[in-house]
Amino acid sequence: ATEPLFCIGCGAQIQTTDKTAAGYTPSGALEKGLETGELYCQRCFRLRHYNEIQPVSVSDDEFLNLLSQIGSTDSLVVYVVDIFDVNGSLIPGLQRFVGKNPVLVVGNKVDLLPSSFKPTKVKDWLRQTVNRAGLRPVGVELVSAKTNQAVDDLLTVINRYAHDRDVYVVGVTNVGKSTLINQIIHQSSGERQVITTSKFPGTTLDLIKIPLDNGHLLIDTPGIIHSSQMAHYLSSQDLKYVSPQKRIKPRVYQLNSGQTLFWGAVGRFDYLQGPKAGFTVYVDNNLMLHRTKLENADEFFANHAGGLLKPPEGPENVIPLQRHEFKVTDTSDLVIEGLGWVTVPKGSVVAGWAPKGVAVLIRKSMF
Ligand code: GDP
Repeated sequence: ATEPLFCIGCGAQIQTTDKTAAGYTPSGALEKGLETGELYCQRCFRLRHYNEIQPVSVSDDEFLNLLSQIGSTDSLVVYVVDIFDVNGSLIPGLQRFVGKNPVLVVGNKVDLLPSSFKPTKVKDWLRQTVNRAGLRPVGVELVSAKTNQAVDDLLTVINRYAHDRDVYVVGVTNVGKSTLINQIIHQSSGERQVITTSKFPGTTLDLIKIPLDNGHLLIDTPGIIHSSQMAHYLSSQDLKYVSPQKRIKPRVYQLNSGQTLFWGAVGRFDYLQGPKAGFTVYVDNNLMLHRTKLENADEFFANHAGGLLKPPEGPENVIPLQRHEFKVTDTSDLVIEGLGWVTVPKGSVVAGWAPKGVAVLIRKSMF
């Protein structure tokens, strides 16, 4: 085996295989780095040259280690969640890990929500959702890191809650934390350079620090990978059907009990019991929805998954779906984690299907 190589910026071990993990370096850059004697990982390279950070992820153990160290500091914790996939953004035990430190929840990707949504209602809903997960945030904010919506307001709020404390930004991968940090970097004044400095013991990475108005630092932490994310089950080509890039246009279906709605071949919704009703589906605009009779649904899936029903592209890539049945007492959303949700009327019985390992759940309606 060859000698391990290390990034001279952050100390992570250089590797050329996993773009999302610490130390990733394209092989071309590795050769060049060895020639010049200045070997940086891609993340540190971009940070030095473009003042831009790239997302990076760590293992569960490293992440928990890092979180519990935040607990022993006096700081404000900014917790970024994907408003389109709140359940997939949850960090179990976050409140316990951060100790007495205040937590500010940031719902990112509001640009995806239909224009009919009321920000105050969504904020209340998000607060209740994180409350149920055991978190008592000092505040809840909504932003779009991508369109730079309300990011300046967020900075004002962060400065207000931070007082004279440092700020740690935490989140699972894919919630848009890096995009948000880059917006913040570009908004903070040019003279004050972003720095990478001290290392948390037990992590491979130096943390990115950004000077704030209060004289303290905003510190980016690596994201933890949520293994149940739908993204892990699809090729990058198929992902375009399930991770929305544009504002979602809700689609309404009139369903009788005994009808099934396929969400490509990656999700399925069965209406088992209840009166004829309108069901509104919030998924990527390109994801094909197909209605069939429940009694024919299994056969339909067997014949058409990977063909008429996609993603995935091609029958060989089809993943078997697992069924989860629910009796719904209040008006609710049935969520297929990472894919979207459908509104369900109170008093009905429904089933949601997803690849094994992808969560299917009932939650209080968002709208
Ligand atoms: P991280 O893993 O949390 O650092 O996430 P990234 O910043 O890499 O973003 C993950 C994905 O979400 C990328 O495809 C981004 O383009 C997308 N994304 C990030 N912020 C937003 C946002 O505000 N709105 C939308 N629609 N997409 C976003």
